[in-house]
Amino acid sequence: MNQRELFFKHVAQTSPAPLAIEVVRADCATLFDAQGKEYIDLIGGISVANIGHRHPKVIEAIRAQTDAYLHVMVYGEMIESPQVRYAAALAKHLPENLQSVYFTNSGAEATEGAMKLAKRVTGRTKMIAFNKSYHGSTQGALSLLGDEYYRNAFRPLLPDIWHYDLNDIAAVDAIDSQTACVVMETVQAESGVVKPNLDFIKAVRKKCTETGALLIFDEIQAGFGRTGLLWAFSAIGVIPDVLLLGKALGGGMPLGAFITDKKWMDQLTDRPVLGHITTFGGHPVCCAAGLAAFEALLDEKWIDQVHEKEQLLLGALVHSTIVSVRSAGLWMGVEFASAENCKKVIDYLLDKGVLTDWFLFAPHCLRISPPLIIHPEQLKKAAALITEACDVVL
Ligand code: PLP
Repeated sequence: MNQRELFFKHVAQTSPAPLAIEVVRADCATLFDAQGKEYIDLIGGISVANIGHRHPKVIEAIRAQTDAYLHVMVYGEMIESPQVRYAAALAKHLPENLQSVYFTNSGAEATEGAMKLAKRVTGRTKMIAFNKSYHGSTQGALSLLGDEYYRNAFRPLLPDIWHYDLNDIAAVDAIDSQTACVVMETVQAESGVVKPNLDFIKAVRKKCTETGALLIFDEIQAGFGRTGLLWAFSAIGVIPDVLLLGKALGGGMPLGAFITDKKWMDQLTDRPVLGHITTFGGHPVCCAAGLAAFEALLDEKWIDQVHEKEQLLLGALVHSTIVSVRSAGLWMGVEFASAENCKKVIDYLLDKGVLTDWFLFAPHCLRISPPLIIHPEQLKKAAALITEACDVVL
């Protein structure tokens, strides 16, 4: 059996139609398949490869760490330099109430940890989340997920979680003295890059402060320069009580984090002790890779180029069949009239060597979230192929 046949036989699938590209190499913003075909990567492993694939500093950090040690002990017991240095580096770029970093293996685990933290800190269970939000696929995170189709098959889920539309003032009214937390994305990812209104976020923040509910911002996709600022919440001017990170956090290695005030995080050490544990969370190789990626992102000033690249794309993505383009930095949802139209464009692009995708709750929108390091010429070429696809297939 060839690789493709073995893939379909033995590698578990939950997509009815996986891309099934046999990738053999990835560099910067280009993927290479087993047939020698090149793809411009317009999705960066879904907002992971912000500084591109296999950045030399990341590879070097991984090599150095593998020479030193791999896993040595479960989370939080040993002083592991990659964890310590990365937590301190993140803290340096975060407000003073976000200084204690709990590293996890994934974004979903960061969400789970934050949900437990909110319960532990407040002694409450009610949670508020938003329709069309995505926070992960584990059962707690799934309970927050804002789509009944995806939730319903897996009930019973966590009780006392209430969903509202983004920007609906009813969500603010629902925050009360029973509420443990409000969980929201600073830019909704899977609804196709949708920004909440500023006034709405401010009202949520105010009500959380008044009632003692924790405000949890999920920047698992929005973080690390994606929107043109290191953190999307900096643009809003609202500081959360807990920040969720993942995706680009690991520089291409699996890593997530929930970050909060030390006085709150410390409560996970007591009643019960070891209130949240993980064997591999904050793996030293992942933290070494993540730290190298974080330093490269900042030192090489990739975030400074985001706005210009965003404008380049916005200027080029004009076509009568494109209904709208929603953008937040180098992160876009290109809206078509239907999911069928979007799929036709995605397939055409794949054939021409451009990798894009759709969004979980917006299958009629084409996903663009390339490595921030993508060369402008690659962006121009990809954008020209998108409008060409519109001409040819729609
Ligand atoms: N939160 C957001 C906004 C995400 O986009 C994702 C993943 O796509 C997650 C959480 C879950 O992260 P992971 O897939 O690493 O569990």
